[in-house]
This record gives sequence, C-alpha cells and structure tokens, in this order.
Amino acid sequence: MSASLQGATQPTVYRFKLGGFEAATILDSKAIRQGLHPTYGANASADDVHALALANHIDLDRYEHPNTPTLVNTGKELVLFDTGNGALPREYEQLKARLPPGNLAARLGLLGHKPEDIDVVVLTHGHPDHIGGLVEGGKPVYPNARYVFGAAEFDFWKRNEGVREARLFNQKLFMTICEPLADRATFIKPGDEVVGGIHAVDASGHSPGLMAFHIESEGKRFMVTADTCTQYAMAVQRPEWQFEMDDDKDKAVATRMWILDMLATERLFFASFHFPFPGVGWIDKTSAGYRWVPHSYQMNL
Ligand SMILES: [Zn+2]
Repeated sequence: MSASLQGATQPTVYRFKLGGFEAATILDSKAIRQGLHPTYGANASADDVHALALANHIDLDRYEHPNTPTLVNTGKELVLFDTGNGALPREYEQLKARLPPGNLAARLGLLGHKPEDIDVVVLTHGHPDHIGGLVEGGKPVYPNARYVFGAAEFDFWKRNEGVREARLFNQKLFMTICEPLADRATFIKPGDEVVGGIHAVDASGHSPGLMAFHIESEGKRFMVTADTCTQYAMAVQRPEWQFEMDDDKDKAVATRMWILDMLATERLFFASFHFPFPGVGWIDKTSAGYRWVPHSYQMNL
C-alpha cells in the first residue's frame, strides 16, 4: 500500500509574547517571482546579484515574495499593521498577474479573532500589498476599526504631484481605497503615538511617507519595519543595492542603512513585511553589510 501525496504545507500564523503585549505575524499571501536582477541591485552587476543569491541558496529564477502583516494585542486594543493584497487581484484585472489574493482576514480566525475585532488598522504606506485588504466590494473589511495613516504618505498620494510613472495606477488605487476612509482616520507623523507603547518612526524612501513602528511593553522592544528591507538577503547583506520598487532610491538606501544599524546596535527584535515567514528576527553587522538572523525558538520560551 502506498500513502497518497498530500501536498506541501506552510505555517501561516505565529504569535509570541512581548512583555504585557502579544504580537503575531500573519502570512497574507506570497508571490513566486523570477529575475532578481535588476529588480535588486540595478546599481550592481547581474553577476554580483546572482553570486549573492547563490551564496544564500536562493534560486536565481524563482524566489518567494511573501506579504506578512503584523498584529499587536496591547490587552486593550488589537492593532493591525497593514492589510495585504485582499481582493485586489479579483477586483482589478491589471493586478491579477502580479498579486496573489490575500488571506489575512480569514487567517485572523486561526488566532481567535474576527475582522470585526480589530480596533486600529495602521497603514505603514500606500502601496497595493499594504492597503489592498482594507476594503472589499467597496466595504471596509475591518468595520469597527479606526485607521492610522502617515500624514506625509496620505498627502503625497492625494496631492498627486511627482508620482513616478510606475506608480500612477497605485495613486488611483490609493484614492479609491483610502480617501473614503479619511473621516475615520488619524494622520500621524514620525514620533507620534498610535496607542500607548507604539510609536511611529520615519522610514521614508521606499515610499514618500513610509513609517516603521517601535513597540515596547514592560521593557520588551520590537519593531515593525515594513518595507525598509524587502528581501532578507539582497536588501540586508547589500543595503546599498537599489530596489526597483523603492520610490526614492537614494533615500531608501540611506533609510535602510540607519535602520539596519539601529537594529544591529540595539539588538532589536523586528518584523519585516516581505521576509520569509514568520518574518521576525534580528540583524547582525558583518564586514560587508548586515545579515538577518531569523528567530528560531527564542520567542517561544
Ligand atoms: Zn510591500
């Protein structure tokens, strides 16, 4: 008798304790992409990018690009950072090929929550894979939430000046999805508090108003770094390499450098939206750049 093949499996939620808070990462979706260069390292050679990929056991022709929002339960409020792709690939023909459908709202159930339970939805920035899960069929997916946007990010999309060619559709999408939510939103700047223990940090570059977040409870610290680094090897080991989706390439590099330096120096635990699930770990400094040290069991103890 032979056992039938059951197909590959992958964990999709991970929760850990952070002082008096709990935090969780949720795999919303993942794309399998091809061609690391020149998406990464347009300012380096294809050979260098391929050598780094090989050194990290990354297939040159197929790499995973996951989308992983973070949920923080302060004991008083459930705060969700970003919303994944949602129904975008179903609702917009032109996004079908690039964005896989989101599963965030359904997978909240694996953590014992419903979309109605979310108190605050924080948008780190306005790119499709972060705002896509906010509404479906024109209705808010998190009906009881208030929204928190970076004021600079919201203003940029609303003003609609200096939007680069590759982001013109993104601008329309942002206005369609986010503008109607403005009356239930607060607009914050770096340094501002979201709720007690959660503060915004300027991470602009990848987008004009990208915000990272510093979270602290009972002396335990954690950062949500969103899209500061979008690939665990390329963007971390060679932070000076340009990434095609960074809107201001030079500023994004500068932001990566100082945030990586801070994470390494302060030995800060952090979540990164596009890192391999569960997307949490640390940064170490190396001779050429940095390296990501993925969490193994440390947060389970
Ligand atoms: Zn992203």
